[in-house]
Amino acid sequence: MARDAAARALAGAAIIVAAAALWAIWGPPPEVRLAPVAWTDIAPPAPVALRPWTTIVIHHSAAPVGDPAGIDRHHAVERKWDGIGYHFVIGNGHGMPLGRIEATFRWRGQSHGAHAGDEAVNQRGIGICVIGDFERAPPDPRLADRLADLCAVLIEHCGALSVESIVGHKDVKASTLCPGAHLDLGALRALVRTKLAARAAAGVAAP
Ligand SMILES: [Zn+2]
Repeated sequence: MARDAAARALAGAAIIVAAAALWAIWGPPPEVRLAPVAWTDIAPPAPVALRPWTTIVIHHSAAPVGDPAGIDRHHAVERKWDGIGYHFVIGNGHGMPLGRIEATFRWRGQSHGAHAGDEAVNQRGIGICVIGDFERAPPDPRLADRLADLCAVLIEHCGALSVESIVGHKDVKASTLCPGAHLDLGALRALVRTKLAARAAAGVAAP
C-alpha cells in the first residue's frame, strides 16, 4: 500500500512538472510594461559607423520558444555560419522576456547579415527575428507593437530606410513562409507609420 501511495505521489508530481513545462511554452507570457525603444538602447558602440542599410527583413523563429543563444548555436553548428545570422532578436516571453530586444554581434559590429538567403539583401538588410511561430498564430499584440517600435527607431536613424523598406523574409526568398501567414506586414507598416508620426509630434524623432 505504501508503495502504491508513493507511486501515486510520484505520478502526481510528474504530471505537475509536465503541466508547468507546457504552461511555460503555451501559457500566456507574464504581464510586462515596456518603455518605448530609444536609439540609445540600441545604438552601435562608438566608433562603429552605421552600415548603409536599405532594407529591414522581418523573420520569425518558427518555434514557440527561443532565445539568441539557441539561435546562435543552431546557425553556428548546423549551418556552419559564424554565429547567429540576425541583427536583432525580440523575445516572446518564452525563452526570453516578452518584448526584450537583443542586438547581436552583427548589429553591434555593423556587419552583414546571414538571414535572407540572398547575398545582396544580406549585405544591406537588417535582419530582425521575432521569437514565435506566426504560421500557426499571430504574434501577441505587445510583441507586434515592440517590433514596430524597433522598426520606427531604425528608420529614424538609418538614413536610407523608410517604411517601404520593411519586407518579410518571404518577399526576398520565394521558398520560405517566414515570417508566417499571421504576421501581417501591411499592418506592421501602418503601425510603424503611426509610431513615426507620434514620435515626430512628441519631438523624440532625433537625431
Ligand atoms: Zn526568415
